[in-house]
Amino acid sequence: MFGPSPSAHAARKDYTHCTGCGLCLLVCPLWRRTHDLGLSPLGRAKALQYGAHATDIAVSVASCTLCAACEPACPEDIDLVGMTLNLRRHLVQPAMMASLLARMESRPSRPGAPLPAARSALLAGEALRAQPRRLERVAALLGGGAALRVHDDDGADLVQALIEGVSIPPPRRERFLAPLRRLDEIVVADGLLFYHLRRWLPGAKLTSLGVALGRLPAIRRGLRAGDLYVIEARAYHADYQRLVKHYDELRRACGCSFNLDLQRIAIPATAAGSHASIEPDDGSSQVRWILQGRNVTRIVLEHLDDGAAFAQICDLPVVQLVDLADDGSS
Ligand code: SF4
Ligand code: SF4
Repeated sequence: MFGPSPSAHAARKDYTHCTGCGLCLLVCPLWRRTHDLGLSPLGRAKALQYGAHATDIAVSVASCTLCAACEPACPEDIDLVGMTLNLRRHLVQPAMMASLLARMESRPSRPGAPLPAARSALLAGEALRAQPRRLERVAALLGGGAALRVHDDDGADLVQALIEGVSIPPPRRERFLAPLRRLDEIVVADGLLFYHLRRWLPGAKLTSLGVALGRLPAIRRGLRAGDLYVIEARAYHADYQRLVKHYDELRRACGCSFNLDLQRIAIPATAAGSHASIEPDDGSSQVRWILQGRNVTRIVLEHLDDGAAFAQICDLPVVQLVDLADDGSS
């Protein structure tokens, strides 16, 4: 269904192109929560246009959840997540930098590990690795063994470095990417890593974990009308034009609805990954926004971390996408 990723982001624009149109505000969870222009992508871009430095807008830079919902909304195609991550590099604390640099230097833990025999690999990420049974189930469903290997080096340290604003040393990035270049397909569980791999490996066949599972008949048979299927926002927005088609097809085939607004931007279920220095959000405002006006009988989650926010404020059953798989052949 999905071929190699187009080399997106090749000619993205920077903050100087912001016209102040305000469209990014409509989808930004921080704007919705605070109605503070200074915490929005518009606010950051305009501040930079008027000569602000990262330290002048540090709270705004730190509070962005990196959900990337603003990017497909921006008519100027400004690299808004890249703008925020670049600003974070000017704000990182020395202790955090030292700790993450040491972590990255020590990866991979087994230097010179043999190349994967399989032609596809799953980059599981920390959330999925913390649930070994679920990870095993995911790997089996995606065709474990000769077909797909759970890759030892899943780039979790790089994700943390990106979130914290620590520059990734080129040798570490190359150690991570070199084995991936030999693969036919890379399935990525972490949305922020998916977003960056599309830049780092143009032409590679990258698939988000949600899409990889959503292709399987064993999962599709478990989806039904009345399900609210909660898409992981970062990966979706990173490959918006293609993934809109995937989820449209899934809706037609299975009858479920999604956490999409009228422009089909994914409403993030939580502020997970935020560097928040404003008042922490328990996710309930996001979940209320998603549930508003919907007639739903069950919540189906792509991302493991989104469950708590739903469990807090609704009585509906909450299940993980992978747990829908029946025992039939996929
Ligand atoms: S990435 Fe998300 S939180 Fe950050 S500015 Fe864009 S929409 Fe707002
Ligand atoms: S949508 Fe783009 S151009 Fe419009 S205000 Fe936001 S960042 Fe600026």
